[in-house]
Amino acid sequence: MRVSQIYAPTLREVPAEAELVSHQYMLRAGLMRRAASGVYSYLPLGVRVLQKIMNIIREELNRAGGQEILLPIIQPAELWHESGRWNEYGEEMFRLTDRHQREFCLGPTHEEIVTALVRADVRSYKQLPLMLYQIQNKYRDEIRPRFGVIRSREFIMKDLYSFDRDEEGLDKSYQAMYDAYSRIFSRCGLDTRPVEADTGAIGGDNSHEFMVLGDAGEDLIVYCQDCDYAANVERAECAPFEAEEGSWQSLEEIPTPNVTTIEKLVELLEIDASRLIKTMIYLADDKPIAALVSGNNNINEIKLKKVLQCDTLVLADAGTIEAVTGAPVGFAGPVGLEIPIIADYSVSGLVNAVAGANKADTHIANVNINRDYIPTKIADIREAKAGDKCVRCGGTFTSARGTEVGQVFKLGTKYSKALKANFLDENGKEQPIVMGCYGIGVSRTMAAIIEQHHDEDGICWPISVAPFHVIIVPVSYKDEEQRAAAEKLYEELNAAGIEVILDDRNERPGVKFKDADLIGYPYRITIGPKQLQDGNAELFIRSSKTKVVVPLSEIVQHIKSLLNR
Ligand SMILES: [Zn+2]
Repeated sequence: MRVSQIYAPTLREVPAEAELVSHQYMLRAGLMRRAASGVYSYLPLGVRVLQKIMNIIREELNRAGGQEILLPIIQPAELWHESGRWNEYGEEMFRLTDRHQREFCLGPTHEEIVTALVRADVRSYKQLPLMLYQIQNKYRDEIRPRFGVIRSREFIMKDLYSFDRDEEGLDKSYQAMYDAYSRIFSRCGLDTRPVEADTGAIGGDNSHEFMVLGDAGEDLIVYCQDCDYAANVERAECAPFEAEEGSWQSLEEIPTPNVTTIEKLVELLEIDASRLIKTMIYLADDKPIAALVSGNNNINEIKLKKVLQCDTLVLADAGTIEAVTGAPVGFAGPVGLEIPIIADYSVSGLVNAVAGANKADTHIANVNINRDYIPTKIADIREAKAGDKCVRCGGTFTSARGTEVGQVFKLGTKYSKALKANFLDENGKEQPIVMGCYGIGVSRTMAAIIEQHHDEDGICWPISVAPFHVIIVPVSYKDEEQRAAAEKLYEELNAAGIEVILDDRNERPGVKFKDADLIGYPYRITIGPKQLQDGNAELFIRSSKTKVVVPLSEIVQHIKSLLNR
């Protein structure tokens, strides 16, 4: 390929719309262009990178027993009604109606359609296990698309579905995918960390996310410094607190005019936030409940929702809070409340704590659990944070931001039961198929690679996914000798099967070098007058920014050895 011919328009300026480095470089290096909010077109260099990522995925999944299929993007509403997700999915789903008024959606995920596919043809245990996957566009109508392809409305995903006869089979499939994912991301040059995750809208019992750690990440994770426990904060378990020592003292009202926040209360009373009971009033399926957590912690609403087993959970409005507590917002406390109370472990061990008094401008001291209030339930409902004790080993949690590039789920029989995907076992008995599902964000993986491999000049692609391995840059393409040497080397590298691009433009060398650095070809061979006199060229290694002089006659061999061929 020649630079004069390839459609790779680079940009000098940072596009105003792009916050993340990966988003900026994908636009500036001419890998993609925005078509609409959260919708992108990929240009030739971007497609080359995507195809390399997809090929790595295919190789590893095929090796693990996966078979590639291609499912439709347009899916009939009936299947989503069968699974119960047509309404559950909400506004994130792109919905459409055909000319006969039949409803469809643009697939945000494919559990329904693949389950329906398999139920039609799988009859016997002899046809299991099965692992089917596709690489396909997905559609989610995000409220706020951002960060380029990291949170977009159309994105490329690989999704694999496993079908087993029992839990034991599912465990094997899950482990096979977990291992394949580790290999896929490592081959893409990504440093990922598998963390325990919430199963969210997909459902199921068990899940891991593969996270790329970095400040740009949208997710917050905690991991233990002493063991290998790591989890998304949405899901991270918190250890119970030990009960404090001390004797109960009598309740005592404290005047706290206009002190409606934990910060103000800590300042006024000169006590640690951990001594305070924070009382949050929620509406769980439209009924008020109180959730208690210590002042230095936050409620994890996902955990709270699971404890309450409710369908909807929202913070109560001021009117409800006033009606329930008899006080304005900011003075709620558990003493005297007549609604269900869920207490987090962080308050269950407190002796003589401070809480709101359910009375304007008043708090109450020496509050003791089981004397002054009786919780409906004591549970883990807080958000894990750095410094917390590890549930597994008692070590200390550290927190980090991460971007999810892949997720593996054990679905169990959630979809097979709903869609009646059954098989006959050896005894002729009908059983639901046991399923798992496994996703990789392909376009997102590309962005994550850039987040981990770049510098101030541009992208530094790992060899495995680079759009080309080598760029040849003659300092002056007009110069006859340089042109001849460059063309000859171009032929030789092509003949050796090395992916090479030749910068044959009549541009200043500075412009050519800047483009090469921005796009991030791993190796640049510069052919200039001085070195050419001695039959040499300069080899520049993008990732380390090192230069070596190599005889022209040895360059092909040299590159081959760098590429491990
Ligand atoms: Zn630990």
